[in-house]
Amino acid sequence: MVGPGGREHAIVRALLRDSSVTQVHAAPGNAGIARDVTCHAVDASDGAAVTELAQRESYDLVVVGPEAPLAAGVSDALRAAGIPVFGPSKDAAQLEASKAFAKDVMAAAGVPTAQAVHAADAETAAAALDRFGAPYVVKDDGLAAGKGVVVTSDRDAALAHAQACFSAGGTVVIEEFLDGPEVSLFVLSDGQNLVPLSPAQDFKRIFDNDEGPNTGGMGAYTPLDWLQGYTETGDDGVTRDFTGIVMDQVARPTVEEMARRGTPFIGVLYCGLAVTSRGVRVVEFNVRFGDPETQAVLERLETPLGQLLLDAATGELGASRQLAWRDGYAVDVVLATQNYPDSPRKGDVVTGVEEAEALEGVAVLHAGTSTNDDGALVTAGGRVLAVVGTGGTLAEAVERAYAGVEKISWDGAQHRSDIAAKALAGHIRVSSPERQA
Ligand code: AMP
Repeated sequence: MVGPGGREHAIVRALLRDSSVTQVHAAPGNAGIARDVTCHAVDASDGAAVTELAQRESYDLVVVGPEAPLAAGVSDALRAAGIPVFGPSKDAAQLEASKAFAKDVMAAAGVPTAQAVHAADAETAAAALDRFGAPYVVKDDGLAAGKGVVVTSDRDAALAHAQACFSAGGTVVIEEFLDGPEVSLFVLSDGQNLVPLSPAQDFKRIFDNDEGPNTGGMGAYTPLDWLQGYTETGDDGVTRDFTGIVMDQVARPTVEEMARRGTPFIGVLYCGLAVTSRGVRVVEFNVRFGDPETQAVLERLETPLGQLLLDAATGELGASRQLAWRDGYAVDVVLATQNYPDSPRKGDVVTGVEEAEALEGVAVLHAGTSTNDDGALVTAGGRVLAVVGTGGTLAEAVERAYAGVEKISWDGAQHRSDIAAKALAGHIRVSSPERQA
């Protein structure tokens, strides 16, 4: 398992639940991952070092977690050495690394997404802002860990973000605003065959009520009851549910287009979607599991994960693989440091993790953690822990997650108190596009 975060800890735990998996190692991992498996102090983005480790340890499969190693070509280095790897090539990872590339693929594949203009100077940017109108959406065209996007009704702020990207030598993508709730759907791909996971929703803004700046993600829940009954009948006369619609309109055409370009997509295609009044639209693609949705989604996965990822890595997913899911709900709440996402403070001692883990239906997954010289758990990144609650109802899962959160503390810790709250209150409603005509 390559990577240091909460997503990687969730994947490690799920791999350990697979009885066909004899051993799991991580590089570099974190303090929580190191409690579960052997960790190696190897730079996740150093393809030669990761490959050397994989050869030395004779790994049967390498799973690359974060986007940066994928964009740096770590999968390519492993594949060139004949090691099965779950994660796209550097070229295929452009689907996330370049928003302009993703738009080009979507246009070629006929995938529904926001109209967009690629701008490299202030004049083009200003014209695009005026063409689409408020609210304005300005995206840094490069990897920004979910933090390069500004959505604002303030035209000056929108222009200022574009200008900041230009000043840093970059370009921007300016888009029409997409209304409607967002859904994350992870789709496993072996380059040709696809298997969807269970839809989840994440919370990107730092503060309650979706206020403040975007972050890597402050919490998530799954499954999404409010998508039940969302259907669309295609030109072929077949009525599909939400997942079927996304597979048909988004995932399959995208993976086919990538294969057609000679850059097959092997790994997980993360479809970030808006359920708008006109139908499903792609907000973004990511080329790896989402953090923090993974922490919730994998908690419910019953199908053994190791075999599944190995099959994806080796072209063996098959045409009609079905996954098994545990009944009930999973919710995770992220605990972040003071000042996250701006300048997270590190080195604060974390207490209460064991007390939280002792609660029924509560798991604690580590992201930015390490241990100090005294062996105490300390903060080492912006997002520090994800507390996962599971339960028979969404209400129970939320209650358990927050019961866990209450046990944990450090100086300056912050979390959102409204993860899944709108869904619980029945405030998210979508209607199928076909019913609106
Ligand atoms: P991205 O990095 O493209 O995922 O954007 C991060 C977040 O910004 C998304 O999850 C949305 O919440 C928001 N966002 C991005 N694009 C749009 C859009 N066209 N309309 C509305 N919100 C958007």
